[in-house]
Amino acid sequence: MEKRKVIVVGGGPAGYTAAMYLARAALKPLVFAGEEAGGQLMLTTEVENYPGFSEGIMGPKLMEEMKKQAEKFGAEILNKNVIKVELSGEVKKVWVGKEVFETETVVIATGAKSKMLGVGEEKFLGRGVSVCAVCDAAFFKDKKVFVVGGGDAAMVDALALTKFASEVGVIHRRDSLRASKIMQERVLKNNKVKVWWDSVVTGVGGEGVLKEIVIKNVKSGEEKKVEAGGLFLAIGHVPETKFFEGQLGLDKKGFLKVKMYEEGIKVEGYPTMTSVEGVFAAGDVVDFKYKQAVTAAGMGCQAALDVERYLSR
Ligand code: NAP
Repeated sequence: MEKRKVIVVGGGPAGYTAAMYLARAALKPLVFAGEEAGGQLMLTTEVENYPGFSEGIMGPKLMEEMKKQAEKFGAEILNKNVIKVELSGEVKKVWVGKEVFETETVVIATGAKSKMLGVGEEKFLGRGVSVCAVCDAAFFKDKKVFVVGGGDAAMVDALALTKFASEVGVIHRRDSLRASKIMQERVLKNNKVKVWWDSVVTGVGGEGVLKEIVIKNVKSGEEKKVEAGGLFLAIGHVPETKFFEGQLGLDKKGFLKVKMYEEGIKVEGYPTMTSVEGVFAAGDVVDFKYKQAVTAAGMGCQAALDVERYLSR
């Protein structure tokens, strides 16, 4: 089997941007974008803050364009899931189904997945509980639904739901929202939305499908059982690092550590290299702070430039 120069794991903005740069550097990247390629932008509608699109662009369209752009320069992109990796040693191994691929370097851009509340809601996933309002909103026509979270994602979800649901409750654990001002304003002035301030969900109930939730006011301690046709979780994400535990350095929250954490960005050196030689990482799997499409794309570019320099050392 031919040993690759570089394999990219992940098909979001970081993975596709890395792939584009690597392809333009004639390194023939092989990209495992995952069966649900495209990352979190596939779960959103209009992206208004990705530079270059003054009228906004739909998340899935942006990803399609990024993929095409990488392919145009020769990146080989497969919608397959990586199931195992072996990253120590000079030759890295990546398993996809029963096939194993060998490579000199790897760029990890596996992104992040939705956080759960941990109150038993997982058993209702797809049965009233969702982590993607934009995908599922139309199934909740004329229902009373709830969104948990106070960030931009929760605002996007609440707005998507107002188009279908009869009432949208936003449940937020504090008395002020984290979301950007523009998104807050849009939500707060929508008369289908009611915000449950200082509140958390402490229970879920229903036979097979979700019927009710328990909302607790964290200030008064009062708990209330309310009818719920849908519950949408938008409480952030956790990095997707399960294959790398024990192989790569992770921080306390599970984000992959890269050299720039300890050393900053140095002219010499490889800021996006992980704790293992030849393994680089970019995007939301690393970024515990900014988590934007544009920062992920930027980091994908940095990782590709580091790989290019590493391979020609
Ligand atoms: P986020 O900004 O981290 O917000 C998560 C929200 O969930 C926070 O309000 C947080 O409360 C709450 N939360 C976290 N854990 C919770 C728990 N266990 N129980 C109850 N509530 C909990 O995450 P995000 O909204 O997914 O956004 C991530 C990044 O993507 C952000 O940088 C955001 O700006 C960006 N984004 C941008 C757009 C856009 O349109 N521009 C759209 C989506 C996302 P606290 O506020 O109390 O911490």
